[in-house]
Amino acid sequence: MADERIDVVVIGAGQAGIATSEHLRRQGIPHVVLERGRIAERWRSQRWDSLVTNGPVWHDRFPNLEFSGLGPDEFATKEAVADYFVEYADQIDAPVREGIEVTSVRRDGPGFRVETADGAIQAQQVVVATGPFQLPAVPPIVPADTAVTQLHSSDYRNPDQLPEGAVLVVGAGSSGVQIADELLASGREVYLSVGPHDRPPRRYRERDFVWWLGVLGLWDLTTPPEGAEHVTIAVSGADGGRTIDFRELAASGMTLVGRSESYADGVVRFAPDLADNIAGGDANYLGLLDAADAYVARHGLDLPEGPDARVFGPTPDCVKDPVLSLDLADAGVTSIIWATGFRSDYSWLQVDALDADGRPAHRRGVSTEPGVYFVGLPWLSRRGSTFIWGVWHDAGYVADHIATQRGYAAYRP
Ligand SMILES: Cc1cc2nc3c(=O)[nH]c(=O)nc-3n(C[C@H](O)[C@H](O)[C@H](O)COP(=O)(O)OP(=O)(O)OC[C@H]3O[C@@H](n4cnc5c(N)ncnc54)[C@H](O)[C@@H]3O)c2cc1C
Repeated sequence: MADERIDVVVIGAGQAGIATSEHLRRQGIPHVVLERGRIAERWRSQRWDSLVTNGPVWHDRFPNLEFSGLGPDEFATKEAVADYFVEYADQIDAPVREGIEVTSVRRDGPGFRVETADGAIQAQQVVVATGPFQLPAVPPIVPADTAVTQLHSSDYRNPDQLPEGAVLVVGAGSSGVQIADELLASGREVYLSVGPHDRPPRRYRERDFVWWLGVLGLWDLTTPPEGAEHVTIAVSGADGGRTIDFRELAASGMTLVGRSESYADGVVRFAPDLADNIAGGDANYLGLLDAADAYVARHGLDLPEGPDARVFGPTPDCVKDPVLSLDLADAGVTSIIWATGFRSDYSWLQVDALDADGRPAHRRGVSTEPGVYFVGLPWLSRRGSTFIWGVWHDAGYVADHIATQRGYAAYRP
């Protein structure tokens, strides 16, 4: 017999859980948000110290609360982001219970039994908001017992945490490039393993790239490009925000290498794809400039031209003549940071809401198990779904769906 009954249990109090709570509140739907840590725990404890948002705060926020103390074009620190969600939860008096981990969800008659370390709750509906980026995904390339420190980007905090010596950073999305840049600035020798990526201009014609992606409808794309589940996007809000330019990083002393492929006898081998990956990023960058120019012309906007944005520096030697293998000891590499993304674990979700590979089976967050919903997943409805401003709309859709189903359940002729 379950201890407590409530209409909806939301699991996780990151931005997805808080947004869901707000939309359920607006619909007058009783609910509770269970969070195993603190509100926005991942922003507090699973990001590096110097991280700031990738988007300026006028954009990376919920529609009805601004970041206090920051100008619209500034980038919030990770602590400011976590504080923002605490402030938001306070503002709506969100029924968040911190320090409560959900250990299983099972169907129980018309609803669900939600087990926690603190007792069971009986819920009519469950919203899973446990994050798009849950567990470190490290490719099995370098064995764990190799005499080199290996960390995932979610465990990296700052350069002082690493033993003396050079560092190989694997992955050149926003985490990898920012960590590599910080390590280089701290005086480390850095190798950066660069795979395929998008590389938008930080600002073009007086507009941030988040604005361009918005007006061009690119945040609203509903499916990832063919063959990709995730768009690796090399972008940074650090130091007030600047375009990631791999030529500049190489010119300041970073050694770029291709995708990390294999390891044997102390030597990491890289694919011969560095020049192609840089060219792919350049094409993405130039494509956005072209689309922006076309948009300006079509709408007759008065935005200054930016011809300098099309001028690239010389191709670095490490791209022309790439390093294809690196003897870690000879190169003095004592650490490897894997900025290689995340995976999920839904083993506790024991309902028919997952596909054969254990991944959420849903349409716009409405799962194949009636009454179970997901919010905050990559591409849940569109490219923007995992972002602070994007999850808002998905949470609204899910809350609407819950309200509609409650209407059917309540109907009596
Ligand atoms: C390095 C990095 C930088 C990012 N920068 C930006 C940015 O600048 N702008 C932007 O818009 N987005 C950014 N994102 C993307 C996204 O905003 C974050 O990943 C965000 O944390 C996702 O929020 P969420 O609520 O969906 O999930 P999470 O923040 O992961 O929240 C899920 C919550 O669920 C809890 N939980 C998990 N399992 C259980 C359980 N069984 N029981 C109870 N609680 C549980 C967790 O403790 C966690 O608090 C970034 C992501 C990363 C990795």
